Order: sequence, then C-alpha cells, then structure tokens
Amino acid sequence: MPELPEVETTRSGIEPHIINQKIKQVIVRERRLRWTIPDELDILTSEQRIKVVKRRAKYLLLELESGTIIIHLGMSGSLRIIEDNAPVQKHDHVDILLENGVILRYHDPRRFGCILWTKEPATHELLKNLGPEPLTDAFNSDYLFDVSRKRSVAIKLFIMDNKVVVGVGNIYANEALFAAGINPNKPANSISKARYEKLVHYIKEILARAIEVGGTTLRDFVGGDGKPGYFQQTLNVYGRGNLPCKTCGKLLKEVKLGQRTTVWCSHCQH
Ligand SMILES: [Zn+2]
Repeated sequence: MPELPEVETTRSGIEPHIINQKIKQVIVRERRLRWTIPDELDILTSEQRIKVVKRRAKYLLLELESGTIIIHLGMSGSLRIIEDNAPVQKHDHVDILLENGVILRYHDPRRFGCILWTKEPATHELLKNLGPEPLTDAFNSDYLFDVSRKRSVAIKLFIMDNKVVVGVGNIYANEALFAAGINPNKPANSISKARYEKLVHYIKEILARAIEVGGTTLRDFVGGDGKPGYFQQTLNVYGRGNLPCKTCGKLLKEVKLGQRTTVWCSHCQH
C-alpha cells in the first residue's frame, strides 16, 4: 500500500512535468474507483491551469484555478508521466492530458483509490478532520502530549489515528515505537512528555529517511511501463515477529492490535 513517503515521492516526481500546465482533457476509462469519479470532471477541469501540486496526508491535491482535484492511490494506485503515447494498459483508468503533450496516467488494479473534485479542499469531508503533518513543526511533543492526556487507547493506535497525526502507517508506527523504546500496547495517556519527545523525533526521522530513499528509488516517473515500486528499508521489527531483536537478541513478540500486525521487543520496549 502506498504510504506517506511513496505519496510524497510521487508528488515531487510528477510536479515538474505538470506544474503550470493547462489541462486539455480528462479521459476516464473506468469511473468506479472507491468513489465514482464525477461525470463532470472533464468539463470542470478543461482549460484550467495546474497551479499547485500538494500533498495532504496521503492525498495528492492538484490545485487548479477554480478548484482542486483530489487523488488518493488507495491500496495499489500509481501515477506516472507519459510523454511518448505509450499504449494504454489494463487498469490504466484515467488520463489527464496537458497542453505540453504530457499525460498524467492513473493506474489502479484494485480500484481502492479515488479521483474527486472540490471547490473547497479545506472543508472537504476527506480532508477537514485531518491532524497535523508529521514533518511539520505543528507536530511536536507538546502537541502530542497534550492531545494524549484524555486518551487511554494503546499508543500505537493513537499515533496511527489520522485525527492525531497523519501518515504514520503501520510499518512506521512499529519502527518508531521500537526506536523510542515504547511498548505499543501502553495507554497513550500513561506516557511521559520526555518519552513523547523521543517518539516524535523517531517518527520524523523514519518518515524523512523513507522519503529520501524514495527519491533515489523512484527517480524516474517517466516512461510507458515504469511502475514505481515501494521503498526498500531496513526494518528492525516490522515483518520480524518471533525473530531475535536486533538489539538484545530476545524473540520479538507479534500480536494484532486494532487488526494490524504489531511487533515489539518486551525487553527493549516498556
Ligand atoms: Zn530487544
């Protein structure tokens, strides 16, 4: 599943090819994504210039003159830049044709993504309740400590809650809690400010590193069949249940927490 780093890398990869370009046409081959692509998307966006290419949580926002196209990659979606009339392949559901001849092509085998239109992104149902971006200064230990005081939910579920902070997916939550030495089952309101400081530090560091790796892995968004893969990262706990902890050698524990696989070291994390 594309996580925040993949989405951010997609954003920075497509931006130079589409920024300040006018949309000539939107071709929709399959409207039935997670939500139906609006019928009028082509008319609403025609002859409009792409002014800003933004990311909010895992949404890509193409800001035009009169509104915003919201794109989510769902479980299996990807975007790529087509410059050479590459033939349409299976699951290439949408093409956005630009005045410079470039096509922004949306591919999504499982169709859990979405492409929507809004005039007011700030108040849009999908965006209005999102917490701060993890890599901004608004996400800090004062903030996280304050909002945790009335929350007895497990710390792992707390940091994966999009209303608290966006973009901390399952892999990153497992890894950041290990790095900070915090047991993922511990109630959010029982964790001290000093430990939140550590946790915030590692969440930022792990996400920033993933984006950096992505920048080198996904160098090239241009090409007919260049499908972006996901980032190869060194993982300390995720996917390593019942294997020895890399720090102390004890076997890592694995349970489901909120239906998501959770791995931790009972010796190093408390
Ligand atoms: Zn350990």
